[in-house]
Amino acid sequence: MKHNFGAGPCILPQEVFKEAAEAVLDFNGLSILEVSHRSADFVAVMDEARENVKKALNVPDGYTVLFLQGGASLGFIITAFNFAGKNKKVAYLNTGTWASKAIKEAEKVGLDVDVVASSEDNNFNYIPKNYSIPDDVDYVHFTSNNTIFGTQFHAFPETDKPLICDMSSDIFSKPIDVSKFAMIYAGAQKNLGPAGATLFIVKDEFLGKSTISTIPTYLDLATHAKKDSMFNTPPVFSVFVANLNLRHLIAGGGVEAMKKKNTEKATLLYNEIDSNPLFEGTTANEDRSMMNVTFKLTDDSKKEAFDKLWNDAGVIGLKGHRSVGGYRASMYNALNVESVQVLVETMKKLK
Ligand SMILES: *Cc1c(COP(=O)(O)O)cnc(C)c1O
Repeated sequence: MKHNFGAGPCILPQEVFKEAAEAVLDFNGLSILEVSHRSADFVAVMDEARENVKKALNVPDGYTVLFLQGGASLGFIITAFNFAGKNKKVAYLNTGTWASKAIKEAEKVGLDVDVVASSEDNNFNYIPKNYSIPDDVDYVHFTSNNTIFGTQFHAFPETDKPLICDMSSDIFSKPIDVSKFAMIYAGAQKNLGPAGATLFIVKDEFLGKSTISTIPTYLDLATHAKKDSMFNTPPVFSVFVANLNLRHLIAGGGVEAMKKKNTEKATLLYNEIDSNPLFEGTTANEDRSMMNVTFKLTDDSKKEAFDKLWNDAGVIGLKGHRSVGGYRASMYNALNVESVQVLVETMKKLK
């Protein structure tokens, strides 16, 4: 039995793996891998997946849910193209690698990017708090959970400008107020399903409003909204499995229940990091991520011993990202409390 603490693609519930495997062999007499995306059977899957996103996150009327290809990295570009307004000036919060990449893409699209807040001065180990947003920006973009650095916004930025968020690594981990956002996007592979699909939840009033007249067809969210997320071939298998996972999430008590489970896991691990003198966290306590826990040994000479302990216990994916070092325990929705207990036991065993 392996305990997968990998940062992504994510662990999914065992039942979801099983149902997905069955559908590869038999989805109404065909394999899900060969079924036409235009068939009634798959159109029903796409419709249900989009509905289940709305149900799971309590999405208000006036929003459209889309599943595209391209990853959250495409979301960086789509953001800039679709939300450029009359000033072509935009505000970004720079809280880590992914936020920085989003900034770079907005610049490439030709927007005037104002980085209104950044935690780069301290290797992104905190969430900036005191910043102001100029009145003439078209939108504000931020990254709710910084997968690599292990920080998370526990309160969203307050602004009357259209607010856009890359929620790749904490979407569906807790309830959120979607009505605060002009758009939320997320690569599926961090907490929703297999790699291949990218989720967009966009407020309808922004569709087709880009001031960039050369916006390519595929990058225009209005294109996809008009075609019910079937403008071109969607990531069929990824959407199918994401829908299985959404069904599972909703049946198990939804994001409220998930928040409870995720809080339990994070509390367990952070308590060990804080009480065990051999370990220390790498981020500001108040900004600690519930999803990606980054920590270090206080004595590097114990590295070999600790690595052996967790490897022997079946823990995998614990190595920290090269930009932080140390360890990173990613605890996405499907990771069970028991797996965190196993990790904590290995930390207690280290002498
Ligand atoms: C992984 C990740 C990305 C990149 O996602 P791709 O789907 O690989 O493009 C972007 N943002 C965040 C927050 C991530 O965790």
